Amino acid sequence: MALWALRGARRGIVTTRFPRGPEPEAADWPTPPQFRDDEIGTELALRMAAVCPSSALEVAGSQLRLDLGRCTACGRCLEVALRLGHRRPDALLATRSAGNLVISYRLGDAK
Ligand code: SF4
Repeated sequence: MALWALRGARRGIVTTRFPRGPEPEAADWPTPPQFRDDEIGTELALRMAAVCPSSALEVAGSQLRLDLGRCTACGRCLEVALRLGHRRPDALLATRSAGNLVISYRLGDAK
C-alpha cells in the first residue's frame, strides 16, 4: 500500500485504472437511485431533495435533477419515493465529463 501511494505520488496518478471487465463484487454494492419519469410530483420531489444529505437531488422548475457525482447511494430518497424509485442495476459510473452524471427527470402532476 505504501509503495503504491509513493509510486502514484511520483507519477501524479491519483486513482486506479477503470476495471477492464465486470467486477463481481459490484453486485453487492449499494447503487444510486433511479426514478420513474413523470410519476413524481413537485411536492414529493422537494421532500426527496430535503432528505438528501449530499445535495445530489435538486428541484429546478419542472425537473428533478440527480447528480450521480454527489450521490452516496444512501437510499434516503428511496425511502421517501417508495414505489416510484429503485436502485440502479449498475454501480459502474465512468465518464470523462461531470455533466454526464446529471440526470433530469420531468416532474408529473402527482403530489
Ligand atoms: S441515494 Fe442518498 S445521496 Fe443519493 S440522491 Fe438519494 S438521498 Fe441523495
